Amino acid sequence: MALQVELIPTGEIIRVVHPHRPCKLALGSDGVRVTMESALTARDRVGVQDFVLLENFTSEAAFIENLRRRFRENLIYTYIGPVLVSVNPYRDLQIYTQQHMERYRGVSFYKVPPHLFAVADTVYRALRTERRDQAVMISGESGAGKTEATKRLLQFYAETCPAPERGGAVRDRLLQSNPVLEAFGNAKTLRNDNSSRFGKYMDVQFDFKGAPVGGHILSYLLEKSRVVHQNHGERNFHVFYQLLEGGEEEMLRRLGLERNPQSYLYLVKGQCAKVSSINDKSDWKVVRKALTVIDFTEDEVEDLLSIVASVLHLGNIHFAADEESNAQVTTENQLKYLTRLLGVEGSTLREALTHRKIIAKGEELLSPLNLEQAAYARDALSKAVYSRTFTWLVRKINRSLASKDAESPSWRSTTVLGLLDIYGFEVFQHNSFEQFCINYCNEKLQQLFIELTLKSEQEEYEAEGIAWEPVQYFNNKIICDLVEEKFKGIISILVSPWLLQGLRLGLPLPTPPRHKLADQPTRKSLGRGEFRLLHYAGEVTYSVTGFLDKNNDLLFRNLKETMCSSQNPIMSQCFDRSELSDKKRPETVATQFKMSLLQLVEILKSKEPAYIRCIKPNDSKQPGRFDEVLIRHQVKYLGLMENLRVRRAGFAYRRKYEAFLQRYKSLCPETWPTWTGRPQDGVAVLIRHLDYKPEEYKMGRTKIFIRFPKTLFATEDALEV
Ligand code: ATP
Ligand code: MG
Repeated sequence: MALQVELIPTGEIIRVVHPHRPCKLALGSDGVRVTMESALTARDRVGVQDFVLLENFTSEAAFIENLRRRFRENLIYTYIGPVLVSVNPYRDLQIYTQQHMERYRGVSFYKVPPHLFAVADTVYRALRTERRDQAVMISGESGAGKTEATKRLLQFYAETCPAPERGGAVRDRLLQSNPVLEAFGNAKTLRNDNSSRFGKYMDVQFDFKGAPVGGHILSYLLEKSRVVHQNHGERNFHVFYQLLEGGEEEMLRRLGLERNPQSYLYLVKGQCAKVSSINDKSDWKVVRKALTVIDFTEDEVEDLLSIVASVLHLGNIHFAADEESNAQVTTENQLKYLTRLLGVEGSTLREALTHRKIIAKGEELLSPLNLEQAAYARDALSKAVYSRTFTWLVRKINRSLASKDAESPSWRSTTVLGLLDIYGFEVFQHNSFEQFCINYCNEKLQQLFIELTLKSEQEEYEAEGIAWEPVQYFNNKIICDLVEEKFKGIISILVSPWLLQGLRLGLPLPTPPRHKLADQPTRKSLGRGEFRLLHYAGEVTYSVTGFLDKNNDLLFRNLKETMCSSQNPIMSQCFDRSELSDKKRPETVATQFKMSLLQLVEILKSKEPAYIRCIKPNDSKQPGRFDEVLIRHQVKYLGLMENLRVRRAGFAYRRKYEAFLQRYKSLCPETWPTWTGRPQDGVAVLIRHLDYKPEEYKMGRTKIFIRFPKTLFATEDALEV
């Protein structure tokens, strides 16, 4: 057997990790000493590399202990069957090098230690050989490493896949779309210096030779409130700081901008314009170059940056009250820049920022706004301008990623590999509309996960001719229904006229529908305007304050009209006159989100799934710190124990006969050194020799299924003797 080793510097000692025979290499003055470690002690030290091999698989403590042991050894990856669990090391472990790519490329999953590249390669090979679309779903809480994982996967494919015959630029565009999206959609938060403030699903299309030929991105729910407000210690989206730090003098002059972020009210709320881990200046260079790669013309860059600058100017628009308490714009300079950058009439914009247009009985009435209302209207405009520009950006990137070869025969036989990088379950002290949407999304994905996992387990048993034993699991469909059901679900209730009417009249809030699971003896009683959902990951109390406002996402009509008249080509694509028609009531945020989620679920369902579950080891972004309480929460939120239970319901371990025989044939004189018959018969001879009891295993059509880890370990340990 070929020796595959991985060198990990651990102080004085270089540990040689051999997949099956762990050993130590000590560098002494007298040369190199090699100490073999028995499999048993190695298991004690580094844990098991697949949680299904945990003896006590229902114990959360055992699960976490295994994670801890591996983390201590810088082994950040562990499997639950085919699911990859990853713990953010918060340090560069040098595990994504060219050598690593080579090592994992084209090698069976079980022959190498767990790694992101092993998943990447398995998925890619399934795509190539079975010609089935694949989807890698990456989940985890903020800072857990989802986006890093997505980037590493893309990098793996960019480096290891063949180049397409035509349109090789697509590979660069796939990679370069990332810095642009991150500039506009990521921000420094308390939990992550580069936090994605939107959900992202990206398809990569491969031709029949396995070369990437195109791509497509779907984005979800950008956190647009960040444009106008940031909590202490947080920043606005990166692009603002990048532009101010990195933009050329001449360009800033054109945009009417000053370098200092402190000059902009939208950038000072979090009081941390500078972040030690971020270099805005060099990031700007990367973004600027990336824009060119993804087909932006100079004019488009100028139009885009005019919008970014407009948002900053909008934030600095001030109002003063006249003698009738009506708001008046006092910052003429800002207004002047806005007029030019957005290509709108100054007087129209001024009026729109300080008045509300109402259409009553076919007549237009202008009602002046007070200071508070004007500030609200201004911020609503900033949010709308920014978030619509983001949506436009995604569309623009998609045009650049679209395969240019749509008519060629190879296009028709493309297969698709999807990457989903989406926010994990969130529970804070105060949970509002955003958490409600995010947790609903997680609930849907969990439902899909359980459905697909059970289905694939069942299919494998059937294919192997083994009787299926039903698994008990928590079916969360009931929670999804509670949120999304027509008429009765929470999303429908949020737009029901009686609720809106009630709020306007200041009536007490109705009690939201209660789920009977939530009726179990509980904890803290609910306050006024609160409701609680018992999610699969735990219970969350939501406060309805601001719910309706955020859901309705109101932008006054005359602001819309003004933007529809914009001469900035990007703005005019973002604001369409059809919106102004009164006939169609715009969909609320939650309804739109629900529809896009249903669409996402359909996309994912049509593909072969793979899962990466990311865990954040501590809240201080530090390497080496394993915060058990925090990790326990995530194990729960990620549904990992449930995952393990489903996976272990029948058999802990399964392996193709060829592979099993290859590994253990040395244990039986009849199979060693070569077995010439069918591998299945060889395995039968082998396990008879090893004295496996009938209840310990089952022989399928192509695989042996072993029920308990201890059987496997005994066999494994026998190799040591
Ligand atoms: P969010 O939901 O806030 O977007 P996320 O799960 O996408 O969070 P990342 O941005 O991927 O989190 O990771 C946060 C930081 O953790 C990274 O900027 C990087 O510093 C570090 N990190 C994540 N994964 C790894 C890794 N595999 N190796 C080294 N560092 C990592
Ligand atoms: Mg992210």
